[in-house]
Amino acid sequence: MQVFTSVMVLGLCFAAFIISDIKGYKERKTDSMISLANVIGLNSISAIDFLDNDAAKAILGDLRKISPDVVHATILDNKGNIFATYSKNGTGTYPFPRVQANKKFEFVRNHLLVYNTIINDNEITGTVCLRVELTELNAIKKQKYQIAYILLIVGLGVAFLIALAIQPYISKRLLSLVSIMNQVSKTGDYSKHVVVEGKDEITALSLVFNNLMDQIQESHKKKDEFIGIASHELKTPLTSIKAYLQVLDSIENNQPNKQYIEKALENVNKLQQLLLDLLDVSKIQSGQLQLNINEFNIDTLIDETIASSQIVSPNHQIVREGKPVNQVISADKQRIEQVLINLLSNATKYSPGAKKVILYTAKTVSAIIVGVKDFGIGIPKKEQSKVFERFYRTKELSKHHISGFGLGLYICRDIIERHKGKIWIESDGKGSVFYFSLPLQSSVAAAPSA
Ligand code: ADP
Repeated sequence: MQVFTSVMVLGLCFAAFIISDIKGYKERKTDSMISLANVIGLNSISAIDFLDNDAAKAILGDLRKISPDVVHATILDNKGNIFATYSKNGTGTYPFPRVQANKKFEFVRNHLLVYNTIINDNEITGTVCLRVELTELNAIKKQKYQIAYILLIVGLGVAFLIALAIQPYISKRLLSLVSIMNQVSKTGDYSKHVVVEGKDEITALSLVFNNLMDQIQESHKKKDEFIGIASHELKTPLTSIKAYLQVLDSIENNQPNKQYIEKALENVNKLQQLLLDLLDVSKIQSGQLQLNINEFNIDTLIDETIASSQIVSPNHQIVREGKPVNQVISADKQRIEQVLINLLSNATKYSPGAKKVILYTAKTVSAIIVGVKDFGIGIPKKEQSKVFERFYRTKELSKHHISGFGLGLYICRDIIERHKGKIWIESDGKGSVFYFSLPLQSSVAAAPSA
């Protein structure tokens, strides 16, 4: 763009320069030819008076030596009749247009035509007409155009080289801005900022971007605070409602009342789970999710969790595969149980038509690996990393109408990463396997069971 603008400006300058040069040349040529016609007129006065054509022709003939640019010349008498003519190449008389009063010259097809009246004793006795070829003008034009072309090409080259030298600096800053924007859109991490340097449009853009990130962060913070406070305030009344419903459930034996109470309890439980998730998210956001580390046998925890999950998911058979890992680990038992429950409940929830869910365990030299496999709707490749983001739910769900809030996996990832472990997915579209690993570093081997 810069190169194009420079060339345009350069081109316009050259055009203005050439036009003014040509105009100057024409003015000078016209003045000198009018003076020449005037001199010829003065010299021809006596020839016209004595009707001496030969003398007039001789005067015109001198033009060959005095001004070779004049290709045709004619002296007209006071009635406009030809009195004497001249042709440089002997090509005959040139038919000058009818001379008009006040018109002293005109340009006709690369030639200058000059008309100058001959005045004797305040009386017009004739007119001198000259036809001058502008070969010099053409040569000047050609030369100027050549210079302009050469300078334009040189200018273009220089502008291009300068642009080439500046470009990496501009592109580097722009590309770094684009890369940070991409990272923000992929990770949703609004704490990212660009380095502000220089004093140009990119600097202004960087400042606006950083301000925008600050504003988004601020509004997220307020939203998180609100979610935290609201969840906390809702927890106590909900616990009370649940307690009363449980009392009602234990004393009511008549249908359909009992069924209504059970339905209400079921929904209160869902609401309570959502509030617990929201409180966990709020703790994660404010960095207050604490781990309560203790030692426990991972096999026992897994078996107990399978048993409790089986009760709430009677339509699926949850089976354990792989050798027991036979390991006591140091971790937050409640939080690891929360992860297991979440993965098992997702596995059954997102495989409505399937009958089985498999839980694998394995042990490597440095970690315990747990995998939960289902035969459900699966997760497309491009969404696999996104399901660990807050509130993310896969597009596929619009077809299946399975309820959820997209918080469970976000919390699971945080819990596992706080234990210095990893969580990941393998899914080929016909089901999914969610894995997590826990490092063995601070774990201790369990005493072999008798
Ligand atoms: P929720 O299940 O409440 O929506 P999660 O954080 O547990 O929230 O899961 C996030 C999303 O990941 C789900 O909405 C779903 O789209 C997808 N997902 C999780 N587990 C599975 C699974 N086993 N099979 C298919 N999709 C899953």
